[in-house]
Amino acid sequence: MEGETKAARRGHCVVLAYPAQGHINPMLEFSKRLLHRGISVTLVSTRFFCSKLQKLPGSIIALETISDGFDDGGIDKAENHKIYLDSLRQVGTQTLSELIEKLNRTGKPVDCIIYDSFLTWALEVSRKLGLLGVSFLTQNLSVDSIYYHVNKGKLKLPLVKDQNISLPGLPSFEPCDMPSFLYEYEPGNAFLDLVLGQFSNIEKADWIICNSFYEMEIEVADLMRKIWPNLRTVGPTIPYKLLNNNNSNNTFEGEEDYGFSIFKGEECTKWLDNQPKQSVAFVSLGSMVSSSKEQMKELAMGLTDSGISFLWVVRDSEEAKLPASFSKKTKKSLVVTWCQQPKVLSHEAIGCFVTHCGWNSTMEALSLGVPMVALPLWSDQRTNATIIKDVWKIGVRAEFDENGIVRREALKNSIWEIMKYERGCEVKSNAMKWKNLAAKAVHEGGSSWKNIEEFVDSLSHLNV
Ligand code: UDP
Repeated sequence: MEGETKAARRGHCVVLAYPAQGHINPMLEFSKRLLHRGISVTLVSTRFFCSKLQKLPGSIIALETISDGFDDGGIDKAENHKIYLDSLRQVGTQTLSELIEKLNRTGKPVDCIIYDSFLTWALEVSRKLGLLGVSFLTQNLSVDSIYYHVNKGKLKLPLVKDQNISLPGLPSFEPCDMPSFLYEYEPGNAFLDLVLGQFSNIEKADWIICNSFYEMEIEVADLMRKIWPNLRTVGPTIPYKLLNNNNSNNTFEGEEDYGFSIFKGEECTKWLDNQPKQSVAFVSLGSMVSSSKEQMKELAMGLTDSGISFLWVVRDSEEAKLPASFSKKTKKSLVVTWCQQPKVLSHEAIGCFVTHCGWNSTMEALSLGVPMVALPLWSDQRTNATIIKDVWKIGVRAEFDENGIVRREALKNSIWEIMKYERGCEVKSNAMKWKNLAAKAVHEGGSSWKNIEEFVDSLSHLNV
C-alpha cells in the first residue's frame, strides 16, 4: 500500500493517552492528522481503559496497551488517587518500554513518543530509548499558563479571598474563576499534584503540542512561546469534515468519526433531522462529572419548563437520578446515554449547547459555531466558562445558588437568553466568527496546519 511505504519512511509515533475520554479524543484526532501526512501512529493507553473502548466503524488507528498496575478496574480499584498515579508511573514506565521494544521488532521502529502532559515519566522512557519526546497539553494555554505560574511559584496558593489574579497574557480573574484544584486548594491532593507536575520536566521535551489554536489565545500563546520556543498549537482537534460543513472533499478514510469511545453511542441524527433549524438545546456534562439527584431534577425540570426542544446526554450511571415522572422521549425531547457529540454539535437543528465546559466540549462548540450555556463543575471548567463568556463572548453562564445547584429557573433563563432574547444574536454572531477562524487554522496554510507540517517535517528528517 502506498500509504504504508510512505509511513515507513516518514516515522512512527507512539501516542500515549491518559486513560480518560477527554484525553484520548484530542490525541486520537491529532493521530489521524499525522497518519494523513504519512506518519505511522500507534495509539496507547492503559489495559483497563482500552478494554472499555468501542472501536467505531472506519477506525484507522492501531491501538496498543500498557499497564497501570490495575488491569481489572483502573483508578477505581486503587485505594486512593495517589496510589493509582504512582502505580501508573511505575508500571507504566516498565510496560511502555516493553511495548516499544515489541513494536521495534515488527519492522516499524518507533521514532517518537507523544505523551499526555500528565504522564511526564514518558519523557524519561523516550530519553532512555533514544527517541523524541513530545508533551501534548490537552487543556488550553490559558489554563496551562495558570498551572505553570503556580508550579513556578509565581502565583501562590492558597488564593486569598477577593484576590485579583492578574497573570501575563490573561484577563484578570477572581479566585472563583480559577481551576477547582486551586480555588478549593487542598495540599497533597493527587490531582493538584498531577496538573502542576505537568511542568516539572516540560522544558526538556523536544516539542510541546497544545490542543488549542493560535487565534483563540494569541496573547498567552505568544507569551508561552517565549518561555517554550518549541510550543505549537495544533487544534481544534475535531474531524476536518465537520469543520468543513460536512463537505468531504478535504477528508480521508475514517476521518469523520471519532474512532473510539468508552460509552456505547446512540443514534440521534434521525431525531435531529426532524427538528427545525437552531431549535434544539443540546445538553451534555461530559464523560466524568457526576451530578447530585437534586441537580438532575432541577436540570430535568428547567429543560422541560423552558419549552425549548432538547437532546440530553445522561450517562447510564446518572440515569437513576432522573425524576420518576420524567419521560426520556417526547415529541420535543430525547435523552440518550451517549452520542457522537461533535456530529451532534454540527447538526443544523442545534441552537445552543448546555455544557460543563470541559475543554474538548468547549473547543468542539466554539469550532462548530454553537453558542453555550456554561454550567461549570470542577477542574478547569470554571476558567473555561469565564473565558467563554467574557473573552470569546460565545455564551452565558448559568447561575448556581448558594448550595452549588443550578435551579430550574436559572437554567431556563440562560437557555432563553441564547435561544429567544436579543443577547443571543450577539453571541451567535460571535460563535460564527470563531467557527470560521477554527476552520481557517486547520486548513492548508492556517496556523495549526503549518505547525503540524513543521512537526511532521522534523520527524521525516529523522528518517532520511
Ligand atoms: N462526548 C461524546 N459523546 C457524548 C458526550 C461527550 O463523544 O455523549 C465527548 C465530547 O465530544 C468530548 C469528550 O467526550 O470530546 C468529553 O471531553 P471534555 O473535555 O469535554 O469533558 P470531560 O469528559 O473530560 O469532563
